[in-house]
Amino acid sequence: MKSITERDLLHELFPETARELFGEGTTARPTLGLYPIADGRLALVRRERLVELEPIETTTKKNAFHCDLCHVTRSRGEVSVYRAHVAPRTYRYVTLCLGTQHCLGRAGHAGLSGLADRLLD
Ligand SMILES: [Zn+2]
Repeated sequence: MKSITERDLLHELFPETARELFGEGTTARPTLGLYPIADGRLALVRRERLVELEPIETTTKKNAFHCDLCHVTRSRGEVSVYRAHVAPRTYRYVTLCLGTQHCLGRAGHAGLSGLADRLLD
């Protein structure tokens, strides 16, 4: 029996996102990661699960924001609010630094795992 890989699954469920993440014909298989994809969106992947984070416009007048990944307080221009479609008719909202790589560096694996727990449970 042919086993189905995470990549096969992603290609089936989210063909466009999987192509952006893995390209065609690569064997990369991230088990936990946050990846910039097209149009300012991010893809949070854990094993066979994937959730897309879509940046949304906010009209808040706040000027201090708490990053939900690295937990640093940022100013308005340094973050984006993202909407994650976690289940049918269910969205969760997270605030993340715009500098994804630096944010990930501060958060580390444990921080990213915590975010995945919130969005991919
Ligand atoms: Zn951050």
